[in-house]
Amino acid sequence: MGKTVSDMADSELKRNQIEYLDSIIETVGNTPLVKLQKMPAEHGVKATILVKPEFLNPTGSVKDRMAIYLLKQAVARGELKPGGTIVEATSGNTGAAVAMFAAVHGYKAILTIPDKMSREKVDTLRAFGAEVHVCPTAVPPESPESYYETGKRLARENSNSYWVGQYFNLDNIHAHYHTTGPEIWRQTEGKLDCFVGGVGTGGTVSGIARYLKEQNPKVEIVAVDPEGSVYYQYHKDKTMVEPHTYYVEGIGEDMLCPTIDFSVIDTMYQVGDKTSFLLTRDLARKEGILAGGSSGSVMYAALEHGKKMHEGQTMVVILPDSGAKYISKIFNDDWMREKGFL
Ligand code: PMP
Repeated sequence: MGKTVSDMADSELKRNQIEYLDSIIETVGNTPLVKLQKMPAEHGVKATILVKPEFLNPTGSVKDRMAIYLLKQAVARGELKPGGTIVEATSGNTGAAVAMFAAVHGYKAILTIPDKMSREKVDTLRAFGAEVHVCPTAVPPESPESYYETGKRLARENSNSYWVGQYFNLDNIHAHYHTTGPEIWRQTEGKLDCFVGGVGTGGTVSGIARYLKEQNPKVEIVAVDPEGSVYYQYHKDKTMVEPHTYYVEGIGEDMLCPTIDFSVIDTMYQVGDKTSFLLTRDLARKEGILAGGSSGSVMYAALEHGKKMHEGQTMVVILPDSGAKYISKIFNDDWMREKGFL
């Protein structure tokens, strides 16, 4: 077989040592660790807090890692076939990653999203060319109207479709066990005492925690859950509370997902919307870090837990997504006042 024109162009470029990647997907992962300058001292924390700004991934969230890993596995197993349709229920971030993957590789993407999610997130999915179905938030997960059940139905109705199922698909945990966990271990050279993250599906924290605990069982794993979600109480005493809606996006659940491994989570904190959003704004104003609402929730747990740690100890904190996704909400004073958060 002779070389195609594009192969020749590629080899020519490489001979000239022009550095490039074959697609935007290859920019996923390898985010840095960044030391917080002011907030720890202001909150009486002596330990070093290193945040991992996952909004530096191409669609602006940690979910790029999971979605790309999971979809590549699905292609390798022959479950996602050429020309197929990828269907997923999303709080927005996984959907953006799915839609990016679909655009690059020529799949169709159908995404369902609850109506509480920001306008920016819904518009982003459409910008990538996905078909988007906005569903009611305030219905139980088993309701046929829920974003979850609507997604499953659309997957059944579309031939040659692949249902991602991040809430059940254990590749969600494996993605972080094989990529994010080793990355944190390498970047810190194993010198970390504590890891902090937020739980939505639980995949990020569970995968990273499993890897870190295997390397050193003494690494403490701290998770945060929003008020209104079922995880916090379940972690405490294995009882289920009645869930209620809340404003922070991407963390908490109204059901227990198999993608959360409670056995690797040592401590769980619970936080309300107001505290989360005010800390999100502090990250931007005091540290110059424009992160999303769940980053404020994670910062609450990091600062509370940090007070129990000593000088010389190190904590790594995941900032899941970008503040650019919430300019019309958390960073809009009118919205904040209207909801009683300012
Ligand atoms: N924060 C945000 C903004 C998210 O979108 C998500 C994913 N739903 C998370 C945190 C939690 O990640 P995970 O699903 O891996 O628990």
